Formats: sequence, structure tokens, C-alpha cells
Amino acid sequence: MTDTLSRRNFLGASAAALAAGALPARLDAIEAPAVILRGASRPVAISSANSLAPVSKALELVLQGSDTLDAAVDGVKIQELDPKDNSVGYGGLPNEDGVVQLDASCMHGPTRRAGAVGALEGIKTPSEVAKLVLKYTNHIMLVGEGAKRFALSYGFKDEDLLTPESRQHWLTWRANRGPNDDWLDVPKGTEMVVRPTGTINLNVVNAAGDLSSVTTTSGLAWKISGRVGDSPIVGAGQYTDNDVGAAGSTGRGESNIMVCGGFLTVEHMRRGMSPTDACMETLKRTLHMTPDRLMGPDGRPKFDLTFYAVNKKGEFGAAGLFPARYAVASEGNPAAFKDCAYMFKRS
Ligand code: ASP
Repeated sequence: MTDTLSRRNFLGASAAALAAGALPARLDAIEAPAVILRGASRPVAISSANSLAPVSKALELVLQGSDTLDAAVDGVKIQELDPKDNSVGYGGLPNEDGVVQLDASCMHGPTRRAGAVGALEGIKTPSEVAKLVLKYTNHIMLVGEGAKRFALSYGFKDEDLLTPESRQHWLTWRANRGPNDDWLDVPKGTEMVVRPTGTINLNVVNAAGDLSSVTTTSGLAWKISGRVGDSPIVGAGQYTDNDVGAAGSTGRGESNIMVCGGFLTVEHMRRGMSPTDACMETLKRTLHMTPDRLMGPDGRPKFDLTFYAVNKKGEFGAAGLFPARYAVASEGNPAAFKDCAYMFKRS
């Protein structure tokens, strides 16, 4: 444990620092982290597999000296604005009414602040709006109409978020819902997107060891109107503790919410686990909390969930219920895909 500080030493160091007035008094009152990582960090941006360009951008920005949250949000914005990415922002798949409702949240390690928006309509880049909630309000989450008015007050444009493709996917889904619906089936052979999932969670650390995280999504396709997933929930969709690390997820949000997965993964790292092991441990807890109706006869979950994590030193990793890839860029290593650790093989 050369570059870590034991809990006892930390407490001693805290007391000395407090006496010197170097730390905020509230640190006296809360339980101290078990493991504090010190020393230089390796700048890293880690994210889900749809985020090669975002991790590249985020890393480039932190290497130029940008704040980690600014870098993370500027990174994910690339995908939010990309009409071809139907998991986030513009072009994201809509809810069952054909309306795109976006969720996003973020955390800034150095200032210990968070911001989030839920069920936001008409605004292409919910991650930016979440950052404004973090920056300019005494609140953490704004939803629906209020979130939209908040965004408009900052000059965001109210736009149609459906692209011709995402609208067509929705029309096809609606017309094939079931034998008892009132729609005529779309002819066989028409491409149908079957409840796809997708989201971006992006976590960043810079050379000073400052961390931030952001998660943005259009949520589960065809969701019930008003449904909000894990992505805008601080502690579930993403979480950052500047003393330890940052983590977040993609996949079935309801399952993640049940274990507060972003927070739990950071807590596992606080106790000394590697980022990959921490993600895996959170998945074990998820399985423990999974009701029978979501488990297949073969003992495998009927849903997918993946966690991504980076610690203060710049070590990173990811793990999913099933095999998946993630995107990562670190100083000296351009953006690339890597394989996540996983629990179950796909059948
Ligand atoms: N986690 C997102 C949600 O539940 C969806 C996803 O990642 O696919 O809203």
C-alpha cells in the first residue's frame, strides 16, 4: 500500500489538517474513506461502446487543461447531436407515444456537485442542461416541462428530436405491437428495431486526479410516457467521488436503480477493489436483487446491464452481465475499444 493511505492514517492526517484549517470542517463528521489514492494520475476517459469519438474528445480536452466535467459533456454532446445514434439526444428512440424524452445527469468531483434532467423534451443535448442545473441552481434534478423551460431560458432551441429513421422505427413498432392493436401489421421484411437499449456513460480523470462523470440517454425505447430510468439518477446512472473514482452504467435502468449501481461501484473502489472488480461486484448485487420474472429458465437474466469505472489514479475497467465492449482513451493511447469482463455468455 505504497500509494494509499490507511483509514487510521487518514483520520490522523485529517485531524492534523483540520487543526491547520486545511480541510472543511464537515470532513470531521463523516466516515473517512478507507482508501485514498495519491500521486499523479493518468488522464483517462472511459465510456460505453458508442463513444469512441466522445472519449477521444474528452481526453483531448483534459490534456489541454479543460475541466473534467466540461470535457465529459463536450464529449457526449458529439453523440447527442448525431442523428444516427438512436440511443441519445437527437435521433434517440421515442416513448410509446412517439415522443422523445431524454434523461441525463452529471457529477463534478472537485466541487462535489451534481445536476440532472429527466423526461426532457425538445432539447438535443440534455447533458448540457444537466450541467447547467449543477452549475446555476441549488437543486439537483429538474424534470419534464420545468426542465424544458429551464433549458429554453438559457437559449436552447425547442426542436423536433425525431429523425425520419427514428420515426419510422416507432411507426413500425406501433404497428406490430400485438394481434389486438388497432393497427394493420407492417409488411413482413420491414426492418423492426426490437426494444433496443443504449446510453452513454462517460467518466473522466485528469492528471491532477480530478474526476467527473456524465450519463445521457433517450431511455428504453417505447417506454411508458414519463418513465425515467437510471441515467438521471445520481448514484445510479453515474456517480463521482473525487477522493476515489467515478462510475456509471448502461442497460436496464430499473435493475441499476435497485442497487444504486454508480454509487455502489465507487464504494467498492473505495474499499480497494480494481475498477473491473468493482463493476463485477455491483453486477452480483444486481443479480441478487433481480426478481424471478426477469430471469430466464437457463438461469441468465433476461436483460443486460454494464458498468464502467475509473479510479483517481487513472486505472479503468468495465463489466457487463453479458459480453460487451467499451471505449477508452488514455494519455498516450488513442481511443480504442476494449472487452468488458462479463458474467454470462450469450446463448
Ligand atoms: N439505462 C437506460 C435506461 O434505463 C437505457 C440503456 O442504457 O439502454 O433508461
